[in-house]
Amino acid sequence: MPTVRQCTLLLLFFSAYALHAQTKRPNIVYIMTDDHARTAVSAYDTTLIRTPNIDRIGREGMVFRNACVTNAICGPSRAVLLTGKYSHINGFKDNRSSFDGAQQTFPKILRAEGYFTAMIGKWHLATEPTGFDYWNVLIGQGQYYNPVLIEMGDTLRHEGYATDIITDIAIDAIENRRSDDQPFCLFVHHKAPHRNWMPDAKHMDLYNDRDLPIPPTLFDNYAGRSRAASEQDMRIDDMWLSYDLKLNLRDPAEETGTGGKKSWTTTGIEPDLQRMTAAQRQAWDAHYGPITEAYYRDKPEGRDLSIWKYQRYIKDYLGCIASVDDNVGRLLDYLEKTGELNNTIIVYTSDQGFFIGEHGWYDKRFMYEPSLTIPLLIRYPAEIPAGTVSDALALNLDFAPTFLDVAGIKPPADMQGASLLPLMRTGKAKGWRKSMYYHYYEYPYGWHNVKKHYGVRTQRYKLIHFYNDIDAWELYDLKHDADETHNVYGQRKYKRIVKKLKKELLRLQTQYRDTNPEDKP
Ligand code: CA
Repeated sequence: MPTVRQCTLLLLFFSAYALHAQTKRPNIVYIMTDDHARTAVSAYDTTLIRTPNIDRIGREGMVFRNACVTNAICGPSRAVLLTGKYSHINGFKDNRSSFDGAQQTFPKILRAEGYFTAMIGKWHLATEPTGFDYWNVLIGQGQYYNPVLIEMGDTLRHEGYATDIITDIAIDAIENRRSDDQPFCLFVHHKAPHRNWMPDAKHMDLYNDRDLPIPPTLFDNYAGRSRAASEQDMRIDDMWLSYDLKLNLRDPAEETGTGGKKSWTTTGIEPDLQRMTAAQRQAWDAHYGPITEAYYRDKPEGRDLSIWKYQRYIKDYLGCIASVDDNVGRLLDYLEKTGELNNTIIVYTSDQGFFIGEHGWYDKRFMYEPSLTIPLLIRYPAEIPAGTVSDALALNLDFAPTFLDVAGIKPPADMQGASLLPLMRTGKAKGWRKSMYYHYYEYPYGWHNVKKHYGVRTQRYKLIHFYNDIDAWELYDLKHDADETHNVYGQRKYKRIVKKLKKELLRLQTQYRDTNPEDKP
């Protein structure tokens, strides 16, 4: 005869089991591009491109208008996503780092709780992925055409365009690689629109008939700002004619690009073209041949050459995004067709923003708005009413605790972000953070010569401290200076603001345990 205590335990066990079976846990689909500027998503700005499929996520869900990253560079941003911890805590401060895959990540926690976890596409954390039931990732930056991916340790070359292939593999992973009743957490990490912006044949001609508007700060002279702004090496003017801008130079000695890999001086884009099939190469030449001819015919110089370079750059960049948008549509259609759409939280974002001509630049790294802010659109009908917008300071630091929260798992106390769930009903939440902390490290080694800096941003102000071989402060009043060209640090009327922000900076450094930057406010 079972005892009363045994009966009670059995009863408890079965009711817990029944409850678990009734509540279908939501799927998670996290789509992240590499270097996608917010202004190149039409949910934010319709000047440059239409992205109807990405926009749909926001229209049927929520658009975050003030989402930021904590360290605007590829690898570090990915480490923050997985751990919910700042770079100085997760150990991946810059792209020289190597991710410690033994540490706690949120996919590991989800997996232990029965989720099927899959990482597809760009990984860029140097060590092998851990915590995934299935992974199939690009090597380093990967390639746009006929990319090579590592599938659970096996290296395979795929024929086709990277953005299509990554989406195909992602759909296949949830279709064929999990048990039917398993909720899934799928990471779709695109290479696009990372440098060197090689669009697919079907998106090359999107802007043949028109030029894009010139950004107001394309010819910025960095007056009033610290040496950090003028000493960077990321000007569109210095881009490589072949590798970046796709000219088929008659003589490699005509190359004027600087920075980057030495081999680009002689090989230019040729190694990328040699990967192509005959049909891909034909389409490429059909588009870029006439561009090269026009360049030699018109021979732009001075200001005209700067504008020509900007147009070349932005058109290829947007062409890569057009393919991302198509593929987001394909993934949404698949989820809809399989009946999973409304039981899935879908996130669209980028690993950081990007300069697309602001201050005359490409690339990221700086705490200035174009690279600090990210597109962030979330569709989750269980919690988010369609058409919600949020001006809350959301961070990439928040993704890990958010996804655990959504899955009904309490985020571990050592994660430094906050769940975005409380913001989902209305876009607002009581007690939400009023300031965010940023820290960038990759200097003097690495690319683009952007000095080490940390800073604080509130809804209105941004205070930055550049340190290491410089000791310089910048303050921007974003309400009056959205383009960040007027450094008002040191101006009498901002004295009180600076004092407050420095205090806040110290508070944040203490809160996040970043107590040993090389210099202090
Ligand atoms: Ca990136």
